[in-house]
Amino acid sequence: MAFSAKTRKFLVIFLIIGWGITLTYTVLLSKLPSYPLKTKPLYRDNRLLMGTVWEVTSPKKEAARIVFAEAARIEQLLSKYIPSSEISQLNRLGKLKVSRETFYLIKKSQEFCRLAQGAFDISVAPLVDLWGFTNQQFQVPSEDKIHAVLELVGSDKIILHEKDNVVEFKTQGTQIDLGGITKGFALDCAVKKLKENNIDSCLINAGGQVYALGDKFGQNWKIAIRGANKSEIAGVLELKNKSASTSGNYEQFFLKNGKRYGHIIDPRTGYPAQTQITSVTVVAEQGLTADALSTSLFVLEKKEVKEILKKFPTVLVKIY
Ligand code: ADP
Ligand code: MG
Repeated sequence: MAFSAKTRKFLVIFLIIGWGITLTYTVLLSKLPSYPLKTKPLYRDNRLLMGTVWEVTSPKKEAARIVFAEAARIEQLLSKYIPSSEISQLNRLGKLKVSRETFYLIKKSQEFCRLAQGAFDISVAPLVDLWGFTNQQFQVPSEDKIHAVLELVGSDKIILHEKDNVVEFKTQGTQIDLGGITKGFALDCAVKKLKENNIDSCLINAGGQVYALGDKFGQNWKIAIRGANKSEIAGVLELKNKSASTSGNYEQFFLKNGKRYGHIIDPRTGYPAQTQITSVTVVAEQGLTADALSTSLFVLEKKEVKEILKKFPTVLVKIY
């Protein structure tokens, strides 16, 4: 087939342009980060555990099952609402040899109590009961009653026998409530299990306590912090291998004579924490630290917050 000189010239130019486009495209593609061109599927599942919804998001289907199983195990061990849990038994008997894990968490809680100068205290349990937060029969107790119950509260009422993992209460009627630290601890335990199963990308949201394991296809996990109003978003955080915990009194509270009484109690006064803030979010390496700190910071005054944060230089705090 013979082409005229004009057509041949046109064909050569056409081929050069085509080759140029192909080369540019190939170079550009090779320079792109290794994101999958097609979005890979993310599996999402949720379960009611520890009185809240646990939501698990991961590219690995089995992640949710692993997280739920571990959270359920911790709940059976530590929930004061489950009569057979070690905490319920200890609260009934006043002295108990507990598992290594329970002992560890109680010991950690005592450490936080010291660091937070008593603002975080698991022996707050009888006060939580008195104000009606355990059975949802809310009441504003008399001052006399509060003072009487305060006699049972204080970290000095908890004796830890290191050599045999025995926990003992000094005073009859003292009880403990690990509600301010359990979810964070359970997140850490779940993440450990995920890693043991070679899962390195997962977002766990346990009703506001979050752990972001690894990243989401090369990008940080994004989480929204809820505002006081359910539909409102107070802020967005980007996380990777970090936990975020939010404590506030906009979810569990009651109103009496126009006053709001929240479920986080100042163990030093016996009254629900009096604060102007809606919530406090703490980002830390460990779920346990984030959880215990967020509860502590909600109780502490500004000056005290500054003091305690000196001991946690890597944590990030957001106050809403
Ligand atoms: P949430 O459980 O809503 O995520 P927190 O982590 O802040 O919120 O824990 C609040 C729970 O901790 C309460 O429901 C109660 O069981 C317990 N608690 C209340 N006040 C204190 C306190 N000052 N120190 C330790 N635990 C507390
Ligand atoms: Mg907490």
